[in-house]
Amino acid sequence: VAKWKKGELVEPIKPLIYYIDPATPPNWVPYLIAGVNDWQKAFEKAGFKNAIMAKEWPKNDSTMSLEDARFSVIRYFASNIENAYGPNVHDPRTGEILESHIGWYHNVMKLVHDWYMIQTAAVDPRARKMKFDTELMGQLIRFVSSHEIGHTLGLLHNMGSSSRTPVEKLRDKAWVEANGHTASIMDYARFNYVAQPEDNISEKGLFPRIGEYDEWAIQWGYGYIPGETEEQQKINSDKLITKTLAENPRKWFGTYELGNSVDPRTQSEDLSDNVMKANDYGIKNLKRIIVNLPEWTKEEGENYDNLNEIYGQLVGQYNRYVNHVIRNVGGIYETFKTTSQPGDVFEFVPKATQKEAFAFINNHVFTTPTWLLDKNILNKIQNPTSIERVQGIQVNTLNGLLDPSRLNRMIVSANRYGATNVYLFNDLMDDTKNAIWSEASQNKPVDAYRRAL
Ligand SMILES: [Zn+2]
Repeated sequence: VAKWKKGELVEPIKPLIYYIDPATPPNWVPYLIAGVNDWQKAFEKAGFKNAIMAKEWPKNDSTMSLEDARFSVIRYFASNIENAYGPNVHDPRTGEILESHIGWYHNVMKLVHDWYMIQTAAVDPRARKMKFDTELMGQLIRFVSSHEIGHTLGLLHNMGSSSRTPVEKLRDKAWVEANGHTASIMDYARFNYVAQPEDNISEKGLFPRIGEYDEWAIQWGYGYIPGETEEQQKINSDKLITKTLAENPRKWFGTYELGNSVDPRTQSEDLSDNVMKANDYGIKNLKRIIVNLPEWTKEEGENYDNLNEIYGQLVGQYNRYVNHVIRNVGGIYETFKTTSQPGDVFEFVPKATQKEAFAFINNHVFTTPTWLLDKNILNKIQNPTSIERVQGIQVNTLNGLLDPSRLNRMIVSANRYGATNVYLFNDLMDDTKNAIWSEASQNKPVDAYRRAL
């Protein structure tokens, strides 16, 4: 502690060592190791050196077993499951992490391939094929490795981190390459889908990284907080948190996983402080990608399964964009606070933001998104007798918007915050009616999709 207080880097007696499962395909081992070692910088900022590292599993050492609870291991599973996980076993008295067996399933590579393609292919030419080159896939594996290691270090998902990045900064090459599109690798913020081709943003500005929030969380969790007693430490911890957030709001933490699922800032797969603008950019990119999909998914000797699958991913991404926006209508912010901090914990989403959300939905969903009904694709993958996915999304969006719990929340919010301040239940009904029946007042024909609304 004395050395740490003087600002000298302290070397832990027992560093955190993660071994790589020897069954791992050899070309991915260096990237998994890099994903672990990337945390060293965060520990150095917290005052520790050589605190965390990954090593290859020693060959021919009969005294070591992958199942041994004394070793932490990144296990590789030759499986078609598209996921990975990072648990830990810790001592409940001290919080010391005793061991961890991380799992990564082979097909998590398919998951990151599809995300990266759909979110960045408009700006990154390397994403325009079904099989990425080793370097790109390796970097994607490295990001998954860092995220899962973050869990084993005790970090939760910080879904709200991305909401602290102003939307236009995501298009600012110098800024986003220096700071990252989200301040936390523990966010489900995936890739910078807002970047437009003319912004010329490189991989640094498209990929997630261990960011300012993660470094701060390690400092808080692993660093020394002064105080003779537990009570004093708690008070000092609160002061440290308040001061840190006041100095840098990007270190904010928010998640729906702790309860409030109606805060539009703490969503997964979204970006920036304004999802209406961010997802407008996202849709611009999807429009650039969709016309190229037949070419980019083509593999010699294959049928249209690739096209079908990636088109499904693209429609899924569009659907995600829409759902992010809906959350703003009747949304309630929840900002974790202690009694020493000013302001309310629960606040309503400003009326103008809610109206902006409705306009987005009218613009991109209720107005039939004909760009998604690309005949060059549909005629290759889908029999016209089956229900079109686009129509399903339109109907679900309308139902979601008029969900009883949302309507109820809007009525209660009007009582609590004042009818002139919030977007009212009646406002939503009027706006919906005008949007759905817009042709009636203008004597225009109604297309087959809108007739289903
Ligand atoms: Zn996770």
